[in-house]
Amino acid sequence: VTTCPLCGGVKTEDVGPYRNESVELAGKTRVRCETCELVFVAPMPTASEWTTYNANYFARAHGRSSDTRSATLFRSGIAKLRVAHVLAELDELGVSLGTVLEIGPGHGEFVSALKAQRPDVIYLGQETDSSLFPKLRQLGVGLLGPDEIGVLPKTVDLVVISHVLEHTIDPLRFLIENTAPLRDGGALFVEVPCRDDLYKSEDEPHLQFFDKPSLGKALEMAGFIGPNLTYHGKTHAELAAENRSLLAARFARMIDRLAGPIMKGPAGLGPAEWGTLRGFAAEKQQSVRSRWLRAIATR
Ligand SMILES: [Zn+2]
Repeated sequence: VTTCPLCGGVKTEDVGPYRNESVELAGKTRVRCETCELVFVAPMPTASEWTTYNANYFARAHGRSSDTRSATLFRSGIAKLRVAHVLAELDELGVSLGTVLEIGPGHGEFVSALKAQRPDVIYLGQETDSSLFPKLRQLGVGLLGPDEIGVLPKTVDLVVISHVLEHTIDPLRFLIENTAPLRDGGALFVEVPCRDDLYKSEDEPHLQFFDKPSLGKALEMAGFIGPNLTYHGKTHAELAAENRSLLAARFARMIDRLAGPIMKGPAGLGPAEWGTLRGFAAEKQQSVRSRWLRAIATR
């Protein structure tokens, strides 16, 4: 029996094969929980399998594509857009920011963008990829060890979990453990790809494929109230059209890179960042299923 890692439901239907590159993830299936609508890989890797896989994944990913100029511009530009979104939402909710905890800060683009707006925040982070520690320390991130989140006092105003939840074997437990230090009335920001299995040709390394109902359910189960769930970036229909005409898509991206710098982008983005991001419509909030799904909620 396949059990949903979120709601525990046992009624599932096959969505398709899990499309992998690594042998560790071979022979798996994508299934959809009929209760909460989460799509997930089955069978789910065990905790130790997944730890080993991720250790290898970092080694494979480094020196590949993560440090190119366009990847760096993409990450810094999109972090500025995310921060603008989060700060606007927090203002509306009346949540003031003193201490922020980010799970998986990566290269530190979100902390940079946030500190540019709110230089006085105390920024804590937990990152599994130790090669990023020096960079994060330089940005003023107080790095926490794996067991330190559980013992923090409940004084954190905002927890940021951006593009991490889809990599976890137990998303609910992950949310509960990592938001434990939130103060009463503190907020959580989550961003995940939205059902990226529908527009990508490879599913690896994601284990969970969220949409609004499943992410909403996850937040509700973790004790959050009234999550505001929003779609961002190109719509799935636009992404499907791009996939049908890869040459046209490549041409459009080239035009964006050339034209972006001379066109005015959203506030705070440099011309080169905007040139890289324009083709992703990252500044757009959409009413239909799109590339990214964001959620802000308080508890
Ligand atoms: Zn479920």
